[in-house]
Amino acid sequence: MKIAGKTIAITGAGRGLGAAMAKRLASAGARLALVDLDEQALLEAQTACVKAGSPMVEFYVANVAEEGPVEALFAKIASDFDALHGLVNNAGITRDALLLKYEDGEQVSKMTLEQWQAVIDVNLTGVFLCGREAAAVMIELACEGCIINISSISRHGNVGQTNYSAAKAGVQAMAVTWAKELARYGIRTASIAPGFIATEMVMAMKPEAREKLTRAIPATRMGEPDEIAQTVQFILENDYVSGRCFDIDGGLRL
Ligand code: NAP
Repeated sequence: MKIAGKTIAITGAGRGLGAAMAKRLASAGARLALVDLDEQALLEAQTACVKAGSPMVEFYVANVAEEGPVEALFAKIASDFDALHGLVNNAGITRDALLLKYEDGEQVSKMTLEQWQAVIDVNLTGVFLCGREAAAVMIELACEGCIINISSISRHGNVGQTNYSAAKAGVQAMAVTWAKELARYGIRTASIAPGFIATEMVMAMKPEAREKLTRAIPATRMGEPDEIAQTVQFILENDYVSGRCFDIDGGLRL
């Protein structure tokens, strides 16, 4: 797919990886539909994308985890742009906790249902809803399309992340399923599994934990947001990519 002039939607585009993807695709001439919960962050991302060269940038405040608002969101994107060629399912949250924690034979904590459900709602259901609605718009407007789900190195299973690991394994499997189901409509799908990338989500970790993690990365540093954005660009541009997951993790294995 040639990116210039194409319409790409990005969820969680207000900051972090989503904002970096938006900026890179803007430089390549994409028209952008930026989705997030934070209006102020969206305004700033919109300004950055216009400055970077995007011919059209609209933003939408929406919760990806809610069916009605997601249906309305993609109907609005379709009417504003009269096209949709790409979606990056990037919005995500963490609510880390051990499944169970015992001290001296006594249970001191457990992952709550709220922690489980919050992550499943945004990171798994949100990807399902946005992927479904984006694909419907692509089919109905007869656009060649590409859907990219942002998974994680944690999809292999990571301590303290029962909820997050389950969701991130799920979105990778969804990309494989959709590659098979949607190819007949000219839609490709893929996923990206970042390792540790220097965004607010990761910088919020305790410094000792961050340093320990960085020491374990063969590349000896965290990734930069633009290194994930580069992968998004590669997947969009390479028409023979479909169904696969790209591990962008500096060689780290959990
Ligand atoms: P981030 O800095 O926390 O940004 C996530 C964005 O998603 C925020 O702008 C957030 O808005 C938005 N968002 C959260 N819940 C939403 C919802 N329900 N509806 C719409 N937008 C919502 O995170 P990031 O580090 O850039 O991560 C982006 C993606 O990459 C996530 O899926 C994450 O799991 C994945 N990932 C990141 C890393 C890493 O090292 N950074 C590694 C592996 C995978 P608010 O600010 O309003 O909450």
